[in-house]
Amino acid sequence: MNSHKGLLIVISGFSGAGKGTVVKELVEQYDYALSISATTRQPRMNERNGEHYFFIDKEDFEEKIKKEKFFEWAEYCNHYYGTPKDFVYERINEGKDVILEIEVQGAFKILEQCPEAILIFVTAPSINELKKRLIGRGTETSEVVQKRIQRAYEEVDMIKDYDYIVINEDVKQCAKDIHTIVVSEHMHVKNAMELPERLKEQFMTVLSE
Ligand code: 5GP
Repeated sequence: MNSHKGLLIVISGFSGAGKGTVVKELVEQYDYALSISATTRQPRMNERNGEHYFFIDKEDFEEKIKKEKFFEWAEYCNHYYGTPKDFVYERINEGKDVILEIEVQGAFKILEQCPEAILIFVTAPSINELKKRLIGRGTETSEVVQKRIQRAYEEVDMIKDYDYIVINEDVKQCAKDIHTIVVSEHMHVKNAMELPERLKEQFMTVLSE
């Protein structure tokens, strides 16, 4: 991927780590395109179709899998979640950095297809805090909260395969940290391959004067 194209930034993290709020802050403060996923889970009270997710039913989701409409998809706590393919490619080709906020299985599927994707894992400062946030948001039953904490425990071993880990103690700081990572990645030579070529051309002009 050359530097005219945007970077693909995959943000994962334990349920309750506050990824959604951090991603919202990133989109509001900086220039990112956020991919909106499709899911078969029910909308929470504050969620709107097409804004937080595309809420679709199981049959519709399975039809989209068959028609290869997803960049990746996964099952998480008894529901399907998937990233629509077209949006991601279009934005990246326009030079936009695209954020995918997805769970770990999806992140690794993205990495297989797109080895240059940047994988960032967001965690709460402690697991007690995580539990407090999950219960505090009051959108899930205690059974679902328990399932999500169990799932978070299973995700710990996968963090080592991410590129970065960021602690979400303060939303603004966490978004700033992620933005700093992305800015640095843009300066990584592998993502700026056309620059030496441009410099070479300039040298040639100067040397021939
Ligand atoms: P929630 O139900 O809390 O909104 O999301 C549950 C989990 O699914 C979160 O870890 C979230 O990042 C993940 N998720 C959301 N959209 C997608 C997607 O398109 N693909 C995958 N693999 N995971 C997703």
